[in-house]
Amino acid sequence: MRYVILGNGVAGMETALALRRRDETASIALVSAEHDHFFSRPALMYVFAGQLALKDTEPYDRGLYERMGFERVRGAVTALDAAGKALVLEGGARVAYDRLLLACGSKARPAPWPGSDGPGVHGFVTLRDLERLDAEAKPGGRAVVIGGGLIGVEVAEILKDRGLHVTFVVRESWYFPLALDAREAALVGEHMRDHGIDVRLGANVAEILRGGAGSRPRAVRLAETGEELGCDLAACCIGVVPNTGFLAGSGLALSKGGAIETDDDLRTNLDGVWAAGDCANVTWADGSRRPEPLWYTARDQGRAAAASMLGDEVRYRRGTWYNSAKFFDLEWTTAGFVPVALNFDNTPLPRPEGVREWFQRVPGRPESQRIVLKGDRVVGFNMLGSRWNHEPLLEWIHERRELPWVLKHLPEAQFDEEFAPRFAVQPTAEVA
Ligand SMILES: Cc1cc2nc3c(=O)[nH]c(=O)nc-3n(C[C@H](O)[C@H](O)[C@H](O)COP(=O)(O)OP(=O)(O)OC[C@H]3O[C@@H](n4cnc5c(N)ncnc54)[C@H](O)[C@@H]3O)c2cc1C
Repeated sequence: MRYVILGNGVAGMETALALRRRDETASIALVSAEHDHFFSRPALMYVFAGQLALKDTEPYDRGLYERMGFERVRGAVTALDAAGKALVLEGGARVAYDRLLLACGSKARPAPWPGSDGPGVHGFVTLRDLERLDAEAKPGGRAVVIGGGLIGVEVAEILKDRGLHVTFVVRESWYFPLALDAREAALVGEHMRDHGIDVRLGANVAEILRGGAGSRPRAVRLAETGEELGCDLAACCIGVVPNTGFLAGSGLALSKGGAIETDDDLRTNLDGVWAAGDCANVTWADGSRRPEPLWYTARDQGRAAAASMLGDEVRYRRGTWYNSAKFFDLEWTTAGFVPVALNFDNTPLPRPEGVREWFQRVPGRPESQRIVLKGDRVVGFNMLGSRWNHEPLLEWIHERRELPWVLKHLPEAQFDEEFAPRFAVQPTAEVA
């Protein structure tokens, strides 16, 4: 049996490893053009900042491919010939498969504004994006970072760290409303301003202005006020889109947004073809169908896809949600159900029926804790400004613990006790 995996990211690598664990003799080929070795995409910012060498972000030693007997095909795929059961590489070479996994990830959502096409407008998703930004980001320069999500704040941080003047443009009326409520976002906004970022909330971009066609950006014009934010470069961090353009015309069913449609077992509509990771459209707990653009879900999907490719009965379902990140040096851990408080049109969203929240801001520190309750049971955590281990938090949600029990045991889920004060309930804590 010949397995071919398009993509050398976490979904592709986890699939390859899981296949090898179960089948010692199968031919397994990994195809990609980005980098010779599997690396951690979430660590790109540390590579840009010079805090880690790219090699240090590689989760496995470089002997892995040989040791596992993986064939490594270096090349960009330009088409899928489903009838001929082969991938077509740039230059025309073909890579034949019996079973194929598409794990081709995502790319930066292209900037949609007039003036976006041309030099000096950047995304930050791939190694090529990093190299382009690295070449153009000069200390003393001016950057406008557009898009109030996790990648936007990382790019704002690394550009500031390099010595650029950074303006951060966020369309919503507070930063990252998908994950933070107004109180938490105010804390993060304050923190970004303390780090010298010029944060503009509720600001839509109208246009990227250039000196002339083909010249570099000179400003980003805001829609509401007409203000021109002077810049030498703009970073567009308004999300990612599936990296599937080259699959058009292959007969593969794609969603409106370009994600590869998969069944519960991660099979596509084409015989012998599966998909996993950022590029795959999967069913969410609420029944909607979207990709899950996260590291750990790509890993889990890779493992599930391998089992499915080996003939097991598989039903991929994401476990209870968790994530962690940081906003500059403010740590953030979330686990379970945390309701979104702002709609896409910037209007407040009412709290779902029966949901209450315990919240406290820790005095004198940029830190808060929010615990979400359904009835008396704890169903979610949003922890800002200190480090938490998501595993006990998830355990307590699954055990359907009540608030007093959780508050008593919370210190057990804390990391870094030697650096951060131990969790304590503050007199200002409230349930609402
Ligand atoms: C800056 C940044 C920070 C992030 N931080 C976090 C975080 O903190 N937590 C979190 O959970 N997630 C984070 N993510 C998201 C996470 O990195 C992705 O969800 C995850 O990497 C997806 O893995 P994947 O294997 O599906 O795709 P990818 O890692 O994108 O791998 C895709 C592979 O396909 C190859 N490929 C694609 N098209 C072709 C082609 N035509 N020809 C040949 N090869 C091709 C690529 O070269 C690559 O090897 C972050 C992402 C970015 C960009």
